[in-house]
Amino acid sequence: MTPDTTTAGAEPAEITFADFSLAEPIQRAVAQMGYRTPTPVQAAAIPVVMSGRDVMAAAQTGTGKTAGFALPILQRLLPLASSSPSPARHPVRALVLAPTRELADQIFVNFREYAQFTPLRVACVYGGVDIQPQIAQLRMGCEVLIATPGRLLDHVGQKNVNLGQVQIIVLDEADRMLDMGFMPDLQRILTLLPAVRQSLMFSATFSEEIKKLGNTFLKMPQLIEVARRNATAENVTQQVFMVGRSDEKRAAVAHLVRSRDLKQAIVFSNTKIGCGRLARELKSDGLNAEAIHGDKSQQDRQKTLDAFDHGAGGDRCRCPGP
Ligand code: AMP
Repeated sequence: MTPDTTTAGAEPAEITFADFSLAEPIQRAVAQMGYRTPTPVQAAAIPVVMSGRDVMAAAQTGTGKTAGFALPILQRLLPLASSSPSPARHPVRALVLAPTRELADQIFVNFREYAQFTPLRVACVYGGVDIQPQIAQLRMGCEVLIATPGRLLDHVGQKNVNLGQVQIIVLDEADRMLDMGFMPDLQRILTLLPAVRQSLMFSATFSEEIKKLGNTFLKMPQLIEVARRNATAENVTQQVFMVGRSDEKRAAVAHLVRSRDLKQAIVFSNTKIGCGRLARELKSDGLNAEAIHGDKSQQDRQKTLDAFDHGAGGDRCRCPGP
């Protein structure tokens, strides 16, 4: 690992997006998104990624890390952009791997917005949904592909996509990818990429496993840290309530939601069964609760997330399982 470390947040506060010399279509998209000043991870990562260097960044979701890698990637790909409709002129040049469908979709939505004024094409593939529309999308060609590892390998196996021209690879939420057992898939995917490439790794934590992965996957990376290692985000307060049996836990959740007049709450559960049960019990307690977990269809999960996003109804608890 490299001795170079950037601790974001040390930059002067008055830095703006204009300071990065991003191309006009990218700056226009950023302005349209309403971003005024870069977040600390963006201030640290954008110039380094633009320079072509590998990066290992400790940044949690919510820090603006997606634009931290997406904007400089678009900048690097822009000189290669083609306005030709031919799919052959739009090979995959940047690959972003994410652990879950939801994260992949979130990255896709953001990337597409950042690329909206460029001729660069962005696509997204993940499991749990019909593969056919994804095949059609891949056949049209895309310079940026966002994928979950398993479904990407399905497409590679079916020869729907060729990764031989990838120049930039991003592992997003690398710690979760390892926790979810994606290491063999990741290793397979890495063997399909050209050896000369830029590699970026984003992770909420820098565990020993992550450092090991970084050592094998990154070349002389710039380390970027936006918060203390494994620190809680500044705007989050943690409190512990000691509760006994599981029915008492359910009552405690219901009590917290009611007594604090919480309009929205996310409740994490350690098993899929427990997650579904808790949502049912909260419902029978009169709360507007839904469960999402890996056994729910993508359509159901998306419906629940959309309803949560729109703050439908009064109290709403979302109980995500593994
Ligand atoms: P992320 O951590 O990438 O998931 O981003 C979290 C949220 O912050 C997203 O809704 C972004 O659209 C938003 N965001 C990212 N960068 C900025 C910025 N510089 N100014 C304001 N909002 C931003």
